[in-house]
Amino acid sequence: MSVNSPASPPAVLTIAGSDSGGGAGIQADLKTFMAHATYGLSAVVALTAQNTQSVQSVFAVPPSMISEQLDAVFSDISIKAAKTGMLMDCATIEAVVNAWKRNAPGIPLVVDPVMVATSGGRLLKEDAIDALRQKLLPLATLVTPNLREAEVLLDMPEHSIETIEEMQVAGREIGQRFGVPVVVVKGGHLANGPIVDVVFESKSQETTCIENPRVASTSTHGTGCTLSAAIAANLAKDMAPLDAVRYAIKYVNQAIQAAYPVGHGHGPVNHAY
Ligand code: PLP
Repeated sequence: MSVNSPASPPAVLTIAGSDSGGGAGIQADLKTFMAHATYGLSAVVALTAQNTQSVQSVFAVPPSMISEQLDAVFSDISIKAAKTGMLMDCATIEAVVNAWKRNAPGIPLVVDPVMVATSGGRLLKEDAIDALRQKLLPLATLVTPNLREAEVLLDMPEHSIETIEEMQVAGREIGQRFGVPVVVVKGGHLANGPIVDVVFESKSQETTCIENPRVASTSTHGTGCTLSAAIAANLAKDMAPLDAVRYAIKYVNQAIQAAYPVGHGHGPVNHAY
């Protein structure tokens, strides 16, 4: 290190799956961390053979290797915040949870409860949903379900959450039932009108609605990954949770607007706008 070394930016860790197409997962997270002037690290829990059209196959990284990656980074680098993305199965969730508890980093953890890709590929096995609920969520600082993920977490039938009021109730219920301090219910899949995301904060028991214009675009692959990564980066910079969420939503919105064509399916957002 030279005498004139610049100050180190905050380090942010993603624990997620790789998207060979570069649009979602680890790749989206690292691009987002970079765009937020943070230092990105990654623990890869699964590989996907994937492009903008579909997830063609998935290979789970052995749990022992997941543990080793996490122990390696936590033992050396001062990490300020982390996020989880695609976690695939029970063994993966257990490896992540045990490594988190063993290292007890005492930093914010953003959980993106990824279940199914926009293109239809399954990214969390059915029998792992309970492990996500019971083992991972109690460690989370903030969780970012979309409408279907909120329904699954709460064991509700599909299409039970279709209004802003129902999103508010779901956010409160997830926060209280699983002990998560901040819940962001993402309204992007609500039909028509502006996009409304609902934030429930357990400490104040308040819900806040954040409204943004809907951007008509097919370049939305990896938007969930990007949002949770941007929130983690903002928390690493010591932003208050509600501000971290507001700025992250703005980032995703602008990155969709700036997207350029990639591939023949749902293209990625543009992180370098
Ligand atoms: N592939 C990987 C590896 C992911 O982690 C995710 C989301 O977290 C996706 C695909 C899903 O991306 P999307 O539903 O935005 O296409």
